[in-house]
Amino acid sequence: MPQKYFITTFGCQMNVHDSETLAGLLTSLGYSPASLIEEADIILFNTCCVRENAENRTYGNIGALKALKQARPELIIGMCGCMVQQPSEVAKIKQSYPYVDLVFGTHNLHQLPELIHKVQTSGSRVIEVWDTDGAIYEDLPIRRAETFRAWVTIMYGCNNFCAYCIVPYVRGRERSRKPEQILAEIQDLVRDGVKEITLLGQNVNSYGKDLTGGERWNFARLLREIAYQTDIQRIRFQTSHPKDLSDDLIETLATEAKVCRHLHLPLQSGSTRVLQLMNRRYTREQYRQLAAEIKNRNPGIALTTDIIVGFPGELEGDFQDTLALVSEIGYDGAFTFIYSPRLGTPAAKMADPVSEAEKKRHLAELMKIQNQISLVKNQAFIGTVTEVLVEGVSERNPGMWSGRNSQNKLVHFKPVSQLKPGNLIPVSIISATTFTLEGEFLSSV
Ligand code: SF4
Repeated sequence: MPQKYFITTFGCQMNVHDSETLAGLLTSLGYSPASLIEEADIILFNTCCVRENAENRTYGNIGALKALKQARPELIIGMCGCMVQQPSEVAKIKQSYPYVDLVFGTHNLHQLPELIHKVQTSGSRVIEVWDTDGAIYEDLPIRRAETFRAWVTIMYGCNNFCAYCIVPYVRGRERSRKPEQILAEIQDLVRDGVKEITLLGQNVNSYGKDLTGGERWNFARLLREIAYQTDIQRIRFQTSHPKDLSDDLIETLATEAKVCRHLHLPLQSGSTRVLQLMNRRYTREQYRQLAAEIKNRNPGIALTTDIIVGFPGELEGDFQDTLALVSEIGYDGAFTFIYSPRLGTPAAKMADPVSEAEKKRHLAELMKIQNQISLVKNQAFIGTVTEVLVEGVSERNPGMWSGRNSQNKLVHFKPVSQLKPGNLIPVSIISATTFTLEGEFLSSV
């Protein structure tokens, strides 16, 4: 019987894409995907440590596998990703989860085949977590979840050390992939039928700063070269740190047709005082001017953001500053979170006198205002025709198909027999909700 694998992924798109590499490595070893976790011969948890909730869920999932491991001792259970880069978590796994056979870090992904071999031949648990920045391993096999769109990592790590964030400690310093490797990967994807790529990095705006020798590269140039040199039809990217968003990039977003009209620009707080505590290195006013400039030069662009509520020391006045800025900028959408302390970060040591109830109240207020704004933004599409990349059957809206337009809006439409995932189609928008648009496919325009 062929061996099977099951991967559970927590966290951001970087992790989702890393799991595609894990799946590619397992496929190269002859494994195939299991549809149920109980059928797998190797189970991997690709973990996230950005919020406590993700860690708790991971341990809950691992705990539920104890009986399976007892019934099938040959089953390999592995944990990898950001969580296990923290020595405290490795110690916890060693002590409390003896049936976890394999632990490997974010810099050790490429070693998966040899680590599995070690587990199988030694019969004992294998732990391999490098704490230095990993080299960039090109040409690892990738088993992609979709055929018409793809993630493409352009850089790894982060140099920013925002006070609340664990990422620089678990993903290392910034390392950019060589532009020729990125361009070659995208052209290969185009040959395989991919229409849309999303370029990934913790802060894509820093792309190229660490590349030495040869020509100077930055993110705006990379976007332009991808647009000119490859036949990809749509380019997205995430994530952008506001302090590094250059004028050159604003111009490229406004003028390069293949770059989607959507920018995710994390605000985190609308209070300069809190932004300083967060070590974000921009002020409320600088962010405000940046957002205005982006919208001026690119009026059709959709802006989305991340906001943390209840950062240690955030007072009522700071929160009101955030609300006011959110209303003024008018985001198309926002990911809003209550601050979650992460051991080892500067913010975890800060005094935090604000009660949980107060933070929840603030979060609810922020979400209410943002949802009202999102609805108005979406309603503005009613009566327009928008180009949609077809994804297929809607997960949330049975009987409908879905796709996304350039502004990254989720668009529902009735299924049409001649359409298939990957088609770029015109859709006439007839209604809107806070999170979605609904329309009709226009067979001719
Ligand atoms: S830019 Fe800040 S929030 Fe983003 S990954 Fe780096 S340290 Fe974390």
